[in-house]
Amino acid sequence: MTNSSSSNTYKNIQGAIRRAGEDLGFSESTITTITNPYNVINESVMVEGIDTPINMYRVQFNNALGPYKGGIRFHPDVDLDEVKTLAITMMLKCSLVGIPMGGAKGGATLNPENYTETEIEAVARAWVRTMHEYIGVDKDIPAPDVNTNGQIMSYMLDEFEQIVGRSEPGVITGKPIALGGSVGREQATSQGGVYVLQQLLEYLPDRVGNKQVIIQGFGNVGSYAATLLADAGYTIVGISDSKGAIYRSSGLNVHDILKRKNELRTSLHDMFADDASVDTILNEELLVRPCDILIPAALENQITADNAGDIQARIILELANNPTSADADTILNNRDIMVVPDFLANAGGVTVSYFEWVQNREQYYWDAQTVDERLHTIMTNATKKTFELAKNQSFTLREAGFNLAVERVAHAVALRGSGHIKK
Ligand code: NAD
Repeated sequence: MTNSSSSNTYKNIQGAIRRAGEDLGFSESTITTITNPYNVINESVMVEGIDTPINMYRVQFNNALGPYKGGIRFHPDVDLDEVKTLAITMMLKCSLVGIPMGGAKGGATLNPENYTETEIEAVARAWVRTMHEYIGVDKDIPAPDVNTNGQIMSYMLDEFEQIVGRSEPGVITGKPIALGGSVGREQATSQGGVYVLQQLLEYLPDRVGNKQVIIQGFGNVGSYAATLLADAGYTIVGISDSKGAIYRSSGLNVHDILKRKNELRTSLHDMFADDASVDTILNEELLVRPCDILIPAALENQITADNAGDIQARIILELANNPTSADADTILNNRDIMVVPDFLANAGGVTVSYFEWVQNREQYYWDAQTVDERLHTIMTNATKKTFELAKNQSFTLREAGFNLAVERVAHAVALRGSGHIKK
């Protein structure tokens, strides 16, 4: 994502929050509080074994509802505007689904493909050394995001526990189960998205015909979305990774593709180079190919005014954060394409992260069925509330989501009077 598109997205979200806050009658001071971050930490850090300094970020947006919560992204495009945009989205997400947490996000500007595993571990540890005063089990709880995973969370937990000199598994979520992770966390974002989609299709059974799905991105979120939806009877007709896309109108065997991709560590294009039954196409082309449901599950700003007019899906389920530009949103809405906003569609990830944190604090671990039932309840209830408000007020789902999310967090800010907990 370019600097200017991050900055536009951030301003658009601030504007939407302001409009919702004003409609709901909150004071200027409350609206100002929920549209600006409480703390911004931005350091250029020398990392052992790496020649050039790496920019590291943590933006703590708002903690009126509970400790700050949000993932850490390792990507060459990470910059302050992007981290602020992702942090404000986390505030909305936690508020909309009703979990007692605030919004934050972190990152480091690097391309992990250019570094060894040892160097990535050093970056992860350096991130924690830089941020350790700001994070904590009751303060701010990071988690994985793009290009970070359970292994990186393990390095981070270890570094933090070495610094504080005690066991504190709840300081970070998305951990492997052996280090206090929750069952169900890995697939939670995608599973939550499936529950949102299923609830919407109960309201709108005629919106999609054949349940054909295209998914952009085949990492954690995209690959679980593909396999969970395939198991639920949907046909996955297109998927992509950073190198390119594949499409087959009769459907792809995504379980087999995932297994082979993990074994071979190769791109989708390379895997299907000799298979005439599968179209190998550019990433851009995949988004406008025929399907009923389009799922962006890669990066920001993928659906723009340039391609929104050509999208053939009837529902867009935003599992990525901020994949749709404001212009594209208007075009899609005018074309009666339903967009399920990121802060509803992908909130299953933070929901099970919250479950992980609760389990770490209790030192008592739930089984898979308990996690799944509780995730289902939270995601289904949030979807019902959002859909019903949208229907009653003639809002888009995004507008309804903004209203509900702003109402809860702004109320918490207003109750606190003139003081805010900052650190
Ligand atoms: P990931 O790093 O595991 O996967 C990202 C995938 O996107 C990879 O397959 C990569 O090859 C692909 N990709 C990158 N650029 C692409 C492009 N231009 N076209 C097509 N594919 C491309 O990351 P992830 O954790 O799956 O996150 C994906 C998105 O979901 C991000 O927007 C992230 O913020 C959001 N998200 C993740 C979680 C979570 O729990 N991991 C939770 C909420 C939201």
